[in-house]
Amino acid sequence: MKIAINGAGIAGTALAYWLGKLGHEVLLLERAPALRRGGFVLNLWGIGYDAIERMGLLPQLLELQHHSDELRMVDRSGRTRGGYPSRVLLKLAKGRMATLARSDIATAIFAALPAQVETRFGDSISAIDDDGTRVRVAFEHAPPREFDLVIGADGLHSHVRQLVFGPDTRFEYPLGCHVASFEIPGYRPRNGNTYVAHTAPGRYVARFPLRDDRMLFFVLLRDEHLKGCVPTSHLERKAALTAALADIGWESTTILAGMEPVDDIYFDSISKIRMDAWVKGKVALIGDAAACPSLIAGEGAGFALAQAYVLAGELHRHGNDTEAALAHYHARLGAVVARKQKQAESLVASFIPSTALGVRLRDYATLLMRFPVFPRILMGRYFRDELALPEYGI
Ligand SMILES: Cc1cc2nc3c(=O)[nH]c(=O)nc-3n(C[C@H](O)[C@H](O)[C@H](O)COP(=O)(O)OP(=O)(O)OC[C@H]3O[C@@H](n4cnc5c(N)ncnc54)[C@H](O)[C@@H]3O)c2cc1C
Repeated sequence: MKIAINGAGIAGTALAYWLGKLGHEVLLLERAPALRRGGFVLNLWGIGYDAIERMGLLPQLLELQHHSDELRMVDRSGRTRGGYPSRVLLKLAKGRMATLARSDIATAIFAALPAQVETRFGDSISAIDDDGTRVRVAFEHAPPREFDLVIGADGLHSHVRQLVFGPDTRFEYPLGCHVASFEIPGYRPRNGNTYVAHTAPGRYVARFPLRDDRMLFFVLLRDEHLKGCVPTSHLERKAALTAALADIGWESTTILAGMEPVDDIYFDSISKIRMDAWVKGKVALIGDAAACPSLIAGEGAGFALAQAYVLAGELHRHGNDTEAALAHYHARLGAVVARKQKQAESLVASFIPSTALGVRLRDYATLLMRFPVFPRILMGRYFRDELALPEYGI
């Protein structure tokens, strides 16, 4: 089949990998001029870990892992108030968890794409006309072409979803907060391999040490700290972060000074995407475009990898019957993702409490994670995927 995939994030590259391997003619489009870098590190476990293993990429990605020994919560003076050793989480994932930069995952998959995958950067699908047999696609910068199938893998604010399924307002459920992440080279203090986090009411800032003396920052802000103005440009992002973090204490002065020369800041709303159908005719959605569980709930990258494997596997299993393949794709994964999405609101309350008392209680509660049984009671459900990846023989 001729298949167009819009978006070369983790979902799009993983699907292109599988479809190319199965012999389909794939066009992978990315609006950015090159594979996008940046973003935070994420933990891959469960079905996402299984999916990357089935792609044969696990050994090389394990080499690129980032390690933290401890997760430490500090107050505005830098005194430790909570935290636990990172091995507790590894144990919950039964040893099958990898901490990886999102860009390392996308880069590794992109490098493994089979030769027949055509990639085009700096372009995007601009119109889609599905007549039930073939899909005629127009592009921003190239002549139109026809495909058997079109896939939207273009993330939380998916353009394919807007073109075919409807406006974002029908599917996006904002959780009332935003995320930012950026790197500061040579940042001090470094505290060895410790993930250090400080929370002020409605604002969470964490630093994670990377290789090559880089420090990765991760910021969560409740929307009231953006004062009704969501930044769009790089300068606006910096200004918004400066205004929101200036009075939180801890290392805010050093962080904001270190952020000044930074030219790449990831900034986005934290939202869920919930849809009754991921498929319409010969157009399907995958990854955040279909079912973003939200950064807070986690596993967005893991689900994207699993969706890519299952979508390709169902197409392989059903041959020319794309309707059945696409229906099975959604049926297999829809409920698992929906359950994960239900956890998002309670996780917002625990990540970014809105009162000082809430922050104190949350920090102290994390100390329980040091004792046996509590990790399973407090966090076990977040590490449970009630699905084993099907075997497709691909
Ligand atoms: C630069 C970046 C940084 C991120 N940082 C974090 C983070 O710190 N923490 C976190 O939890 N999640 C982050 N994410 C989101 C995380 O990668 C996803 O939740 C998860 O990996 C699922 O991936 P996805 O491929 O569905 O979506 P995404 O990773 O969002 O990938 C979508 C891709 O589609 C491209 N695209 C968008 N619109 C169009 C269009 N109209 N035409 C063509 N291409 C288009 C985008 O440029 C992007 O490459 C980040 C995403 C990006 C792109």
